[in-house]
Amino acid sequence: MLKINKTILIFFGPPGSGKGTQAEMISKKFKLPTISTGELLRQEIKDRTKTGKEVEKIISKGKYAPERIIKEIILKRIKNKDVKAGYILDGYPRNKKQLNYLIKNLKQGEVNVLAILVDVSDKEVRSRLGGRRVCGCGATYHIKFNPPKKKGICDLCDSKLYIRDDDKPSVIASRLKIYHKEVAPILDYWNKNDKLIKINGEQSIEKVQKDIIKELKKHKI
Ligand SMILES: [Zn+2]
Repeated sequence: MLKINKTILIFFGPPGSGKGTQAEMISKKFKLPTISTGELLRQEIKDRTKTGKEVEKIISKGKYAPERIIKEIILKRIKNKDVKAGYILDGYPRNKKQLNYLIKNLKQGEVNVLAILVDVSDKEVRSRLGGRRVCGCGATYHIKFNPPKKKGICDLCDSKLYIRDDDKPSVIASRLKIYHKEVAPILDYWNKNDKLIKINGEQSIEKVQKDIIKELKKHKI
């Protein structure tokens, strides 16, 4: 069973919405640890645990980690002492199945759950992700927001920049399609229960952050 906590914040947003950045900032401000399934999985792999080895095999085949493992690592993580006052979920629940599991385990006791949607239009997502350029040296650019000095060339090492597979138009389209299909019923649930905070994500990072804090205060967080 999941341990009951005071505050649980769940961040949602399409790829490129900056929800991860926002979750991190809120985590620091409210002193709630962020629990990211992606990070937990990477840690398991790094620590060479039994689970980590299993996940590595699955991921290397281009598949997603199974539900059973996601549950296992989330449960393990929220048994830590540091989540006593609550925690922030990033990347979970991702689908209806995970949502039901979470709800089932939250029913007992007193807990304040809020879902925060960092809302960004598909058009904006396409522009944000589609404009990204990366270099083999690790540097990243954006043709509009952070362009290199010379078009298509890395400022740091003079190499030719390229578009990550994930940022190609067809891949962005399919990522958006999956996002909408999976997240819609989840948002619907929180909305019906008056637990959904919708934030305009098409503003500066600072303004988005301000808006989130304002809403959290309204909800007595
Ligand atoms: Zn470079």
